[in-house]
Amino acid sequence: MKKKFTLIEEIENKILKNDLCFSCGLCVSSHNYDEAKMVTNYEKPMPSFSSNVSKDIDQDLFNACPANKLNYYDLYKNFYKKFPDNWPLGITEGLFLGWSNDYKNHKHFSSAGIITEVLIYLLKNKLIDAAILIKQSNKNPTGGEYFFARTETEIRQSSQSVYTAVSNLDSFRDFKVNENYAITTLPEQSAAIRYLQVNKNLKALQIKYILGPYTGTMLSSNFLNSLKLKYKINKFDKIDEFKWRDGNWPGSLLVNYKSGKSISIPKIYYNYLIPFYISKISLNSMDFVNEFADLAVGDAWSPIVEKKSKAKSIVNVRNEELNKILNIMKNKSIISLESINENFALSMHGHMLDFKKRGSYIRMLIKRKFNIKTPNFGIKPNNITFIRIVIELFIIFIFKICSFKLSIKLMESIPEKILGPTFNYLRLSWKFISKPAKRKNLNLIKMVRDE
Ligand SMILES: Cc1cc2nc3c(=O)[nH]c(=O)nc-3n(C[C@H](O)[C@H](O)[C@H](O)COP(=O)(O)OP(=O)(O)OC[C@H]3O[C@@H](n4cnc5c(N)ncnc54)[C@H](O)[C@@H]3O)c2cc1C
Ligand code: SF4
Repeated sequence: MKKKFTLIEEIENKILKNDLCFSCGLCVSSHNYDEAKMVTNYEKPMPSFSSNVSKDIDQDLFNACPANKLNYYDLYKNFYKKFPDNWPLGITEGLFLGWSNDYKNHKHFSSAGIITEVLIYLLKNKLIDAAILIKQSNKNPTGGEYFFARTETEIRQSSQSVYTAVSNLDSFRDFKVNENYAITTLPEQSAAIRYLQVNKNLKALQIKYILGPYTGTMLSSNFLNSLKLKYKINKFDKIDEFKWRDGNWPGSLLVNYKSGKSISIPKIYYNYLIPFYISKISLNSMDFVNEFADLAVGDAWSPIVEKKSKAKSIVNVRNEELNKILNIMKNKSIISLESINENFALSMHGHMLDFKKRGSYIRMLIKRKFNIKTPNFGIKPNNITFIRIVIELFIIFIFKICSFKLSIKLMESIPEKILGPTFNYLRLSWKFISKPAKRKNLNLIKMVRDE
């Protein structure tokens, strides 16, 4: 029989049962692999504690769990010692459009290769011993797994985004004493590391650089079943190769099956899967711009950039040291950088910034009214208009309708070449209609303590 450990029980009963886990892997990291590990079910990696577990979770790891009580308001005070002037963008020391000058490798990057180039620079200059990165998993082709990259080639092999949550803080148990690391993490994972660093956790202090993607929506892996039906691929056909963003920017979803059949959908067209398969993690997250990463990078979604079809990223630098490193890399012609202002930065991601900062808060508030458990990040927007709440109710309604089996069946019956462009048209129209309410006063959003 499993021994009783209070913190494990809390994780199991409060977080896992209510599907609040952010899949970071932290709570299993102080146990050996036989006692606790992350297990990927079809949707996301979740902690699993064995019946012979011999000890409880370390208290500081439990406190850092993003699904538990990780408080962004306190974290800003304790880590940065200040609050952002511009909350949607977070603390910024530098804001740029940036791209790698290594054009021959551009088709391998997620967007413009800034993260890969910075990691290589850190490694070559012995600022780190290894980088803890994510690469596509062989066991679960749509997901990923962490690994320690110790060479330039290994760093290059992990270029590309894996658009699902991947546990990488369970890597703590593989840390070697006296080594320094860089890590790539999703927003709540970055915040959890900062919480531990503030509390002088020795392993967290071995992480010298956090590089993180802007993180919008992630899909649950079930979407592949729909694609199989749509493309008339046998349900037992196994995946041979999977890429979220194959080829030149912005890239295409590529799935090659063992039978030789293949699916390739341009990135802007497979967005129609989002309302049907959006993951709960995306709906519960309030952090789009990876507020606690030293360097946060996203795609430069701007009509001017998109027209040229050349990959550029938005590069949001949060401290002076990284700013200096980027400038050295620019002077050595490793990367290109163009300074941009806050308004331009906001305009590139206005809808997603609002979806996370106002939308997630409204969604969680409504759930709490119905006694449904949600995470609580200790922050809330200071001012939400009535019309904004109505818009969120409409979004919730659409997600709900799309989650029904009948809606999914209907979606599966419509050919890709009709659905992709139609959805893209509807998405752009919706963006246009909701623009006044969603983008209104975005730069004036202030987050205050949520008691
Ligand atoms: C889940 C997810 C959602 C995203 N959503 C958006 C969005 O809505 N809007 C937007 O503009 N940009 C988004 N991005 C960011 C974008 O896809 C690129 O990752 C970013 O622009 C960096 O590009 P790059 O070319 O510099 O990265 P690269 O140089 O190609 O390096 C990518 C790095 O990211 C790491 N990585 C990949 N997947 C993960 C993961 N799941 N968890 C942790 N690390 C990972 C890899 O280790 C690799 O080092 C998202 C990224 C992810 C992973
Ligand atoms: S969010 Fe992280 S720490 Fe919390 S339960 Fe999930 S894996 Fe464990």
